[in-house]
Amino acid sequence: MEVWPKRIMDIWFTEKQSPNMKLSLRIKNILLNKTTEFQDILVVETEEYGKIMVLDGAIQITEKDEFCYHEMMAHIPICAHSHPRRVLIIGGGDGGVLRECLKHPFIEEAILVDIDSEVVQASRDYFPHVSSGMNDPRATILNMDALTFIREHKHEFDIVIVDSTDPVDFAAGLFQSPFYTDVFEALRSEGIMIAQTESPFAEASLLKQAYKEMEKVFPIVSLCWGAMPTYPTGFWTYTVGSKTVTPEEPRNPAPLDCKYYTSRIHSNSFVLPPFLEALIELK
Ligand code: SAM
Repeated sequence: MEVWPKRIMDIWFTEKQSPNMKLSLRIKNILLNKTTEFQDILVVETEEYGKIMVLDGAIQITEKDEFCYHEMMAHIPICAHSHPRRVLIIGGGDGGVLRECLKHPFIEEAILVDIDSEVVQASRDYFPHVSSGMNDPRATILNMDALTFIREHKHEFDIVIVDSTDPVDFAAGLFQSPFYTDVFEALRSEGIMIAQTESPFAEASLLKQAYKEMEKVFPIVSLCWGAMPTYPTGFWTYTVGSKTVTPEEPRNPAPLDCKYYTSRIHSNSFVLPPFLEALIELK
């Protein structure tokens, strides 16, 4: 009699990162699969990266590598500023950037504006470590379109962090100069903004567009980069717009429990390889 091999679970999640590139992860468990008013949310447990959250087919966070991105997004602008007190996070409904901002004792208030309350709830339900900052009394969470919110707030924030989904549909405006003008006006006199600006290998034109649009508005614009394994190509960029201070040097110390960000990483992340300088036409 023929003996069949023991059945193993062999289910995979695949993110189509470009027409010619995919990332596949073997799944242990499907935890949440729903469609909200704004997007599809999928939470699955993977063998390689632990639990992951996927919005409209694109990986947003994984338990294993989220710190790389969240620490850079929060600590680069906060440590570059001489005395930041109020932070605005646009998007970022998973709470990872919020958690990092609140590691600084001098941050008095952090407001997170994500259009989709169900992303916030999914993070609370499945990613307690990532969403832990949501319970901090200094945190306020609002569910509305950040494009509307930012227009109604002038000279209120020291730091604005744009932690958005890819620039399509309701997130498209977050990569354009009218929005950066609103961010500029929402910032106080020494204000600094940072936005995730994609991979120079996967989305070179988007990165260049965001950088050039920010240059139309901010007197100082600077690009930095870091590792982010599960985002397309693993090479991620962040663009910083500043009203007065140069963002390359940290003025505040790194929180003690960082796993990616250090003061040396801060300065060194602004050192660009020549192909990146050429892309944003620095040289
Ligand atoms: N770090 C992630 C990445 O690059 O893949 C982004 C994480 S965070 C989950 C992105 C959030 O941006 C989503 O929860 C989405 O609802 C929110 N978002 C997109 N456009 C928005 C808008 N116009 N106003 C407020 N939130 C928005």
